[in-house]
Amino acid sequence: MILTASSGPPELLSLVRQLSFCAGHRLLGHEGKCAFFHGHNYRVDLEVTGSTVDSVGRIIDFSALKGLFQGWLDEHWDHGFLLYERDDNALAAIRQIVPTKYFVLPYNPTAENMARYLLDKVAPELLADTGVVASCITVWETDHSCAVARRIVSPKGG
Ligand SMILES: [Zn+2]
Repeated sequence: MILTASSGPPELLSLVRQLSFCAGHRLLGHEGKCAFFHGHNYRVDLEVTGSTVDSVGRIIDFSALKGLFQGWLDEHWDHGFLLYERDDNALAAIRQIVPTKYFVLPYNPTAENMARYLLDKVAPELLADTGVVASCITVWETDHSCAVARRIVSPKGG
């Protein structure tokens, strides 16, 4: 007996692009050293998913993906400081520095919350007209530690 896969292209295709940036943060309420101002060389694995390919066979071009997301990261997070909107003390401090670059998040800037912010807030805007959606975003804080935010994607934007 011969088993055959269903004919035709797979229903969903995904690409993963690696991106990187450097940023500072501190975690409000952390019991240990993450309560101090410090920074990381972050890496982001951005997975996007689509169900249709263009005439070349792509769901989106890798360079287009990089342009959108690396551009956003460079402008908003790279060499900046990520802080929780309720962290009044850290926000007051960072505003004293000239020049300064910081980004306020609606929650503590953990790797989990950064992945979630990219998935929920940033990706839908950047990918609005591309035909793909962000399905998984991994934020690496160190070579050994990452957080993953995932969205279940069904064909045809269901
Ligand atoms: Zn940290």
